[in-house]
Amino acid sequence: MAGGHAAFNPEPVADFVDAAVLGDGEEVVLAITEVVREWKTEGRPGGRDGLLLRLAASGGVYVPRFYDVDYLPDGRIRAVAPNRDGVPWRIHKHTVMDLDSWPYPKNPLVPLAETVHERYSVEIFRGCTRGCRFCQAGMITRPVRERSITTIGDMVQGGIERSGLDEVGLLSLSSADHSEIGAIAKGLADRYDGTNVSLSLPSTRVDAFNVTLADELSRNGRRSGLTFAPEGGSERLRKVINKMVTEDDLIRTVATAYSHGWRQVKLYFMCGLPTETDEDVMQIGELAKRVIETGREVSGRRDIRCTVSIGGFVPKPHTPFQWAGQLDHETTDARLAKLRESVRSDKRYARAIGFRYHDGKPGTIEGLLSRGDRRVGRVIEAVWRDGGRFDGWSEHFSYERWAVACERELAREPVDLDWYTTRDRDVDEVLPWDHLDAGLDRDWLWEDWQDALDPDGAVEVEDCRWTPCFDCGVCPQMDTEIQIGPTGKQLLPLSVV
Ligand code: SF4
Repeated sequence: MAGGHAAFNPEPVADFVDAAVLGDGEEVVLAITEVVREWKTEGRPGGRDGLLLRLAASGGVYVPRFYDVDYLPDGRIRAVAPNRDGVPWRIHKHTVMDLDSWPYPKNPLVPLAETVHERYSVEIFRGCTRGCRFCQAGMITRPVRERSITTIGDMVQGGIERSGLDEVGLLSLSSADHSEIGAIAKGLADRYDGTNVSLSLPSTRVDAFNVTLADELSRNGRRSGLTFAPEGGSERLRKVINKMVTEDDLIRTVATAYSHGWRQVKLYFMCGLPTETDEDVMQIGELAKRVIETGREVSGRRDIRCTVSIGGFVPKPHTPFQWAGQLDHETTDARLAKLRESVRSDKRYARAIGFRYHDGKPGTIEGLLSRGDRRVGRVIEAVWRDGGRFDGWSEHFSYERWAVACERELAREPVDLDWYTTRDRDVDEVLPWDHLDAGLDRDWLWEDWQDALDPDGAVEVEDCRWTPCFDCGVCPQMDTEIQIGPTGKQLLPLSVV
């Protein structure tokens, strides 16, 4: 059984899994267990298929073998339809509506070896309604549901006691957006003042950063680097992706950070976003130079650093960009080489700006897996038979192996690697995941895609946490609602002083 975010398009692995579950696992795993238990008690009627049929009929589990995919002569999908009675046409995601009832993990496993993220992670809320158009995580986990400050405090306390870890990560898609993040950070910093326990947030939105928060988080620890993700180099492109951050916002934020003692800022960007030109990507370099300039000015020091990290954009199912053609890897590489050259050749900044990016080829294969259909399963199998393992690690990844497998396995189909990746889709095309329901209204997604492409400049969408609902469809479809604080509660000291 597969789950997690990638299960929102499990079609490329449909031949290798019995079932996929969409959305939050906490409650549905119990419902599944119940079905399995009943089936066993009754003497396993129908064998494996009998059990899968029961799970499929429950409406909450997608069993690919009970659906037939029919193709048009040009390779697009004509229809996906159930091939058994009692199996629903659409499968819906699960949404847990009270995260406080699920304060897990309570007893985290502690590995014997040192791991990369050696910290106790507490998910402080789920979902994000900022509406970044590239972001699958934000789209498929709507609506926003916060954990309360008191549950977070209890989870941190229990997690530290039971695991022995001394770093706590307060995780979510945009942690500084929690309605009580200030009180949470201060409360935890007070509780663990003078101990070895340190707190961290993942990357912070430029517009949500504030010094008090950053100070609280670094009270017990080092003042390490700060990470922001403007994602798009130019203001125009940030509007296209609905990341409402201006260059001035960013400069103001980094100025605050540098003047309060931070020396390092890390900035994340993407290359290959829809409508992007060379010029948009070159703006990343200009922005980084302005960041360094500002840092030197406000701190009066020369040892200011800015690391620019760039990933290739891969269009994802269930997002407004699901219809977009992906940029080919040759153009991605050429654009990034040009940017690197312009940063390196400017002696005033070359040593202060770190530059990290990967070549575009892995992104093309990610694109194949991201929006592929069942025919891609043959390619995956061929790569595996040819020795492909751990392809996410660059030292094991072979683009050639994938390209050859695509050519061989798709030779009799009217489709190929380009067809899956660089091709624009239109509104009428049946997408491989259209029968899997993340709650988002398809028409809304399409309109949002058109808003991104508006020739008069992209139209932006606000965050429905603080503005009226803009009808993305999730809440009525899933019978859910936004749950945010503030609760007004405080974290009390752990022991009476
Ligand atoms: S349905 Fe409305 S309130 Fe709910 S997530 Fe979508 S836009 Fe926000």
